[in-house]
Amino acid sequence: MHIRCTKCQAAVWVEKDKLNPDKEIEIAKCPVCNTTLNFKNPIFNFTIPPQSAEKLVFKLIENQTKKEYLLKIGKNIIGRNADISIENGDKFIGRKHCLIEVLNNKGIFQCIISDDGSISDDNLPSKNGTFINNSQNRISKFDKIVLQNGNTIKIGHTLLTFLAQ
Ligand SMILES: [Zn+2]
Repeated sequence: MHIRCTKCQAAVWVEKDKLNPDKEIEIAKCPVCNTTLNFKNPIFNFTIPPQSAEKLVFKLIENQTKKEYLLKIGKNIIGRNADISIENGDKFIGRKHCLIEVLNNKGIFQCIISDDGSISDDNLPSKNGTFINNSQNRISKFDKIVLQNGNTIKIGHTLLTFLAQ
């Protein structure tokens, strides 16, 4: 395949067979101007292997640090000082910010996120809100949102990705 050199615009040939399927971003060198080029690897393997429901793992990944947080069955309070403590110095995250409840209803799992004040000492929703999938609108105190694999959750300035795998 060809990629375009970002500096001199030359078409640079890349052997697809030599790309590493585990790397999301690959590197090539422009033979014309010698610039190192980063490009999205088209054979990057991001598909999740099929697994039985009993082996399902629910987790949050902090986008910036790639730190992983496992969600347990039942209630998971997310915050700066909670069941799942996001310790990245983001002061815009509440101590107890939002709740993800993992329900197992006869083998059918649902992960439900809410920010309704039920977990906080003052019964108020988080100060700075919880946002799903780049929405400009925080989830309201009446919302209970079923998370889907790959959804993003923004609390404070921190972006988390929800994964079921
Ligand atoms: Zn070039």
